[in-house]
Amino acid sequence: MKTDNVFLITGGAGFIGSHLCSYLLRKGHKVICLDNFVSGTMDNIKPLLSNNNFQLIKQSVIEPISCHADIIINLASIASPKFYQKYPIDTFKTNVYGAINLLELANKSNAIILQASTSEVYGDPQPLIQNEKYWGNVNPIGIRSCYDEGKRAAESIFMDFHRIYHTKIKIARIFNCYGPKLRSDDGRIVSTFILQALKNKNLTVYGDGTQTRCLCYIDDMLEGIYKLIQSNDSIIGPINLGNPQEQSVIQIAKLIIELTNSKSNIEYYPLPADDPKHRCPDISLAQQLLNWNPTTDIIEGIKKTIAYYQNTELPS
Ligand code: UDP
Repeated sequence: MKTDNVFLITGGAGFIGSHLCSYLLRKGHKVICLDNFVSGTMDNIKPLLSNNNFQLIKQSVIEPISCHADIIINLASIASPKFYQKYPIDTFKTNVYGAINLLELANKSNAIILQASTSEVYGDPQPLIQNEKYWGNVNPIGIRSCYDEGKRAAESIFMDFHRIYHTKIKIARIFNCYGPKLRSDDGRIVSTFILQALKNKNLTVYGDGTQTRCLCYIDDMLEGIYKLIQSNDSIIGPINLGNPQEQSVIQIAKLIIELTNSKSNIEYYPLPADDPKHRCPDISLAQQLLNWNPTTDIIEGIKKTIAYYQNTELPS
């Protein structure tokens, strides 16, 4: 990959986005970060503002975008269920109008465009391990639909642009990802449990805690995204990116209590509507086509994430 490539990272001030901006700058690329700061934060990108290869555009992907990029990575969307359920209409528009705007921009610039899709396209999946051929089990009218259906619609329009205009697309289906800089107030499992454990407050497990997730450490995810971007034009996906080490919510809670040496106990609350019962990626395609494998063990990744929160001022 040429180092003078210009990357446009939409949602570049968010969790994955800001890590990706730093990663690309370290590789010598030029980065334009576009974000409307609905869930991304200035703190995430503050260290990058003085870098000459970094440019910030404050706007939503819903509005027409005028800049030139060689490679576009579309991460623009609220991803935390707590936040997207607060802004469902904006979330849907961001995913659908945003995808269309960016595909048009990609065509104009003859750019490669990568869509950050999600394991949520599988909904509450029937197969215990989800491969890319599974079409999903999504509630189209539920409280998670703004995100799930928005991401599904985005995949659909990406494929049509590819079929009709031969747009150079790539679709990554990103499974749960965690690490430093996850927002402390986003209600997600890792950030919530670590903060509760560090304050010796009880951990809030929803349902009976037997539902599962697979947690992928951010550094592994960045490698996966970069490998997909560099892959041959014929590799368009969708392609699962995630860590197949499956854990129940209870196991994650117990691990975090242990690694923080916390006095916290576990408290049970009702399971939110449409909360998927299990989720585990089949990553054979990424292994074969990209030679990608996540290598960060959950204990190591959670320890690094705990260290981040220990060194950050915690909200009370
Ligand atoms: N969860 C929980 N307690 C919390 C936050 C999350 O038990 O305080 C559970 C949630 O019900 C889900 C899993 O953890 O089963 C992962 O939730 P998260 O919001 O992190 O992401 P999701 O994978 O559901 O999008």
